[in-house]
Amino acid sequence: MASFSSRVKREMCRVPLSRRCCTQAESYGALLLGSDFRAEGLRIVTSHEAYARRLPALFQTAFGFLPEAPADPVGGGKWVFALTEPEKVRVVRAAYGYDEKPSVVLHLNNAVLESDCCLAAFWRGAFCSGGTVTDPMKKYLLEIVTTRRVLARELSALLRESGFEAVPVARGGVQVLSLNLSEAIEDFLTLCGAPVCAMDVMEAKLEKGLRNNVNRRVNCDTANLDKTLAAAERLRGVIARLDASGRLDELPEALRATARVRLENPEDSLSQLAERLGIGKSCLNHRLRKLQVMDKG
Ligand SMILES: [Zn+2]
Repeated sequence: MASFSSRVKREMCRVPLSRRCCTQAESYGALLLGSDFRAEGLRIVTSHEAYARRLPALFQTAFGFLPEAPADPVGGGKWVFALTEPEKVRVVRAAYGYDEKPSVVLHLNNAVLESDCCLAAFWRGAFCSGGTVTDPMKKYLLEIVTTRRVLARELSALLRESGFEAVPVARGGVQVLSLNLSEAIEDFLTLCGAPVCAMDVMEAKLEKGLRNNVNRRVNCDTANLDKTLAAAERLRGVIARLDASGRLDELPEALRATARVRLENPEDSLSQLAERLGIGKSCLNHRLRKLQVMDKG
């Protein structure tokens, strides 16, 4: 079965490519979180099939030309999309405000993400290139990973503008931005065009909440209930044996009534049984002991 991450990306990749501004913003996210965004060339590597199918159409809509791409994945099941032709590289980078000089540090250009429609598209591209999300039944975790430290910081600030808190954390040579609250993950997935998967997160939370509630209640009641049930079970054995040997009928009415009430209300505590019989607890104890003695005798 496909991973949750993979389902999320598949859903995002079904979002129609419409406005040019948004397709450019999505390409921008895809490129920034892709492999290369240099004056010498651009490159996105992915092992996700739906994303690999979307990327050429995305670039075609955004810039009017296709990246150089294999029709099939290369080694390791990965698709590599590259732009190396200097003129095309220049056009794409210029659209995002970068000049032809090789830059040492890659900065995020917020200016090209001014409208809300574009911001959502940008995060969709960014997530498809550099994001993962864990199955919400296991845990709530959505991550966007980049090797670029400054970019991670600037993405964090942009996330905050979009209403998400994610401070970049260094992990094994990369920078990781993560969301670990179910509501934040739901909102992010919805924003990026994966509302069905966002619903899955919500349902996972409901299901887990339900399970926790039941567990809590059961844990609390179990100790008492176990004792009551074990005692009732023992007594049921006693009464059944008395019944089988025909001695139950010979018992005085009070004892028979006690036996019957005990059998009919196996989960009741002794106080509850006493109440049903309209007698005191010590009287009930006395009768139960009598039943037990008779069983032995
Ligand atoms: Zn737009």
